[in-house]
Amino acid sequence: MNGKKEKVVIVGGGLVGPVCALYMAKRGYDVSLYEYRHDPRELGYIRGRSINLAASHRARRALRDLGIEDAILRVGIPMKGRFLHVPRNVLNEKLLYATKQYPNLQLFFNHKLIDVQIDKGLITFIRTDTNATVEVKADLVVGADGAHSTLRKCVLQKPLFDFSQTYVNHGYVELSIAPEFGKQMEPNHLHIWPRGNFMMIALPNYDNSWTLTLFMPFEKFYALDADDKVLNFFYDTFPDSVPLIGEKQLVKDFFRIPPSALISVKCNKYDVEDKVLLIGDAAHAIVPFYGQGMNAGFEDCTIFNEILDECNDNVPLSLKLFSTRRKNDAHAICDLALYNYVEMRDLVTRPSYKLRKFLDDFLNFILPDIWVPLYNSISFTEMNYNKCINNRRWQDKILMGVSVLLATFIVIMSFQVVFL
Ligand code: FAD
Repeated sequence: MNGKKEKVVIVGGGLVGPVCALYMAKRGYDVSLYEYRHDPRELGYIRGRSINLAASHRARRALRDLGIEDAILRVGIPMKGRFLHVPRNVLNEKLLYATKQYPNLQLFFNHKLIDVQIDKGLITFIRTDTNATVEVKADLVVGADGAHSTLRKCVLQKPLFDFSQTYVNHGYVELSIAPEFGKQMEPNHLHIWPRGNFMMIALPNYDNSWTLTLFMPFEKFYALDADDKVLNFFYDTFPDSVPLIGEKQLVKDFFRIPPSALISVKCNKYDVEDKVLLIGDAAHAIVPFYGQGMNAGFEDCTIFNEILDECNDNVPLSLKLFSTRRKNDAHAICDLALYNYVEMRDLVTRPSYKLRKFLDDFLNFILPDIWVPLYNSISFTEMNYNKCINNRRWQDKILMGVSVLLATFIVIMSFQVVFL
């Protein structure tokens, strides 16, 4: 396949699928996007998984490339440090509406992928509204069907395709603060209640309401099996949040759905037999503690688009290059996101963390191009994730070296004071 009118089928119309579809349609490919669910634009507001998301530099870069950043900015909340906070359903809808500008991009809802015959490029869907089976042929099949990707399951038996998944022992529930009480909280900030082994965070919505997410070990959730136990736990642990949420609402939200699980997924490559590409959570689901899952997924699309430019739309070559370039970075952000949970729930309260943050901010202020702290490089630059970690390693070495020198100097000086 080497030409621009080839047929691309994208599976998954969540966040990353439409972004990929827009990039490919812009390049002139004949794009069809198939989504399992009903068209969310026809359903109105549905409460689902993690209703709001932080879009940082990497996601915004993709939105800018596609000419829809301004439209998203209008419905988001600017957060401290070039973050944009945006409701998941609104973002999803805006992305789907943006597809209308391309006559070579078609959307199919209520289509659930059930099988792919890669050698034939034959994809089988089942229509969830009529139960009919639909078969489609494509030159390229892109799997953007999320952490539990069916397309990934279909390629698992292919030789040399490695895959691993890890569930963390912590789950999450979402709670809410109504607009009338939400006004009392400082907007444009992420609020964190770190409690050592668990934590709660709050993110603002544009109607002054807040979404709270409580992350906790599952056994702790299961122990809170009655209304009074939940209320006592909150009064003991997050007393300032109870008047804001309201007792009735708190209990209702807490038991609305069981705590959701968090999964981390790694693959050793994202291309299969010149025909399949995995992107977004299907390729590298990460736990949400760096707020980078969607960002990394959008960045997949930006990078694939750049590689297609470089390879003059030679798709098989681009697929291979994508895997080579992306693997280490995807693994790096998976690992970093797991580490950041410990930092957010526990380390942030420690003096050593505060001192390090102070030094990072100070050195970044005087040497902005040289000393970029890890968090800033992940959230506010397009530096490869792996390079962000390597940067942090040399910064650690320098600070460690300076500390040793300083300690040695203090010891020598104290000896001199004692013996003189
Ligand atoms: P999804 O959004 O999961 O979309 C997959 C789509 O595929 C769905 O629409 C699904 O219906 C469809 N699908 C599935 N199976 C099939 C099938 N067989 N056939 C057809 N369609 C199918 N990321 C950030 O960048 N910032 C954040 O602040 C952030 N916060 C988060 C908070 C929480 C609590 C969680 C859990 C995640 C968070 N993330 C965040 C991560 C982010 O939600 C994901 O990385 C992102 O949704 C991945 O997008 P995706 O399109 O790859 O997958």
